[in-house]
Amino acid sequence: MPRRQIAEGAAAPQQGEPGGEPAAGPGGPRGEPEPEPGGETTRRRRIRSAVRQLSFEAGGEDATSLVEAREAAFVKEKEKQAAEREAERGADESPRRVRLDSLEAAGFSPQSSRLWSFDRETEEELMEEMLLQLAEMCGLPKMSALTVHTFVGRVAGHYSDEVDFHSFTHAVDVTLSAFLLLTRYGGREHLQPVDAMAILVAAMCHDAGHPGLTNPFQKATQSELVSQYGEEATLERMHISIGQSILRSPGCNVLDAAGFSAEEQAWASELIEFAVLGTDLSTQSTVMAEWAEMFGDGGSAAGAEGAAASSCLCGFTMDEAARKAVGRLLLKTADLGCCAKPWAVAQHWAERLVRETQAQTAKELELLVDTQGREAGSPVAGSAGAQAKFHQYVVTPIFRAAAAAFPAFNEGLEQALENERQWRCAHLLAGCASSRGCALTLMGVGRALSEAEGAEAAA
Ligand SMILES: [Zn+2]
Repeated sequence: MPRRQIAEGAAAPQQGEPGGEPAAGPGGPRGEPEPEPGGETTRRRRIRSAVRQLSFEAGGEDATSLVEAREAAFVKEKEKQAAEREAERGADESPRRVRLDSLEAAGFSPQSSRLWSFDRETEEELMEEMLLQLAEMCGLPKMSALTVHTFVGRVAGHYSDEVDFHSFTHAVDVTLSAFLLLTRYGGREHLQPVDAMAILVAAMCHDAGHPGLTNPFQKATQSELVSQYGEEATLERMHISIGQSILRSPGCNVLDAAGFSAEEQAWASELIEFAVLGTDLSTQSTVMAEWAEMFGDGGSAAGAEGAAASSCLCGFTMDEAARKAVGRLLLKTADLGCCAKPWAVAQHWAERLVRETQAQTAKELELLVDTQGREAGSPVAGSAGAQAKFHQYVVTPIFRAAAAAFPAFNEGLEQALENERQWRCAHLLAGCASSRGCALTLMGVGRALSEAEGAEAAA
């Protein structure tokens, strides 16, 4: 229903509305919307009725062919729905109903939206819109909306509703950040159209199949995924593999539908792999060192104000290595995009990550493994102190490099720096609350924070 409301420009979900948390429930890895009050989702009902009909027609065919037939019926149904939507849209000047600009006119803010209050259908539509709009902006021949629809549906099916943070909503959020970095913040100016499209596709697939359990957990438990994808970047290799197998599936190759040659598609595939591997946080120092070696410090040593001067990419020949590096930085920045959201939104995402980490902790206690340094007394993952450190060592360096490369992104950097201050304040307050007789008053916290910052700057 939000889809209809948005289409009429009436009521896109607004900041400040009740959260609308997706209920933990039997959404399942195929990504069906939540069951309607009656019980089943419409999609399930359609499949079941298709199966009933098929089993009637098949008159005793074996189970395998029935399952295959069911799959075929599902794909056919999806295609039919897409064709109906295409027909509904008509062939007038603005063929699509939900456009980002019309969403924004209805009050939707890409920077601060509470995406988690959208339903799955709206999220999928947003994804489709971004891909179609980017293609349009890149001057690509009219992409088939049907292929985009099928592709997004398949990608969505690989995100589990059981996972708190690395959900389809996170994928939509990251895709939205990548879209803004490419368009509004100027990333596209330094790239070829095929690079821009590849990065958006990479954003969509970058956490596909995520089980909510980290790489160190996979390694410590020698999981099934480790045997399949190896110990290095286990999850990232799985995300890449899923994304590429979807692209190879009939009716899903959006790069082909965008009109790219086989050679360009091979390049896109290489870029997607390179960029998604860069989202593995254990590669942080390598990625940043390679970036600095290629483009220099840019504005990354300067403050938020200093970064705005001019792009550190100006004057560089954008050869293949440079395009890959820019693509990777864009995706890394987009992946951390929730840290550049207004404080309340950033906090919500942090809470989701805490819930996901707690679920992993419970599993670790069961299996007697420790991948989080609990024995060594590391700060509790997700605590304000850990968040502040994460900003300091991971988010801020990446965002500074991004703001130096794409000066318009300075507003994202500023918001992230403000959030870092908030986490540090919260950390100090938590310390104050836990130690009896602490002299820090609320007003004293600001002074203590400035002193701590001063001491750090001097060090
Ligand atoms: Zn991610």
